[in-house]
Amino acid sequence: MHELSIAHSVLSIAERTFPADARGSISGVNIQVGELSSIETEALQFAFSAIRSGTVLERAELQIELIPGEAKCADCGCVFHMNSFGMACPECQGFLVNILRGKELKVLSLTVEE
Ligand SMILES: [Zn+2]
Repeated sequence: MHELSIAHSVLSIAERTFPADARGSISGVNIQVGELSSIETEALQFAFSAIRSGTVLERAELQIELIPGEAKCADCGCVFHMNSFGMACPECQGFLVNILRGKELKVLSLTVEE
C-alpha cells in the first residue's frame, strides 16, 4: 500500500527533525498533498494512525492541506482545474497540457507542545 510507505516517510522525517532528548511532544504534523499525487487522504490518515504508536508521533494528528490540481493547455494557454490525469483542455479539447500544481507531497511543519 502506497500510503503506508508515505506514512513511514513522514515518521522518519519527524524522527530526524525532533531530537530524542527534546522537551514536549509532537502534537501535529502538517503536510501538503496534491490532488494529482494519487494519494488517498483517508488511507493516509489510517496508515498514519496505524504506525504512530510507540513513536515520536504517538500523540500527533496528521493535518492534511489538499492542493488542487491545476494545468495549462500548451495549445491555447487556458489554465484550468485538473482533478485527474488525462483531462482534456476545456477550451480546445487539447490533451497537451502542462501540470502547474497538484503533485505535491511535502511535510511542512511539526507542531510541538511542551
Ligand atoms: Zn486548450
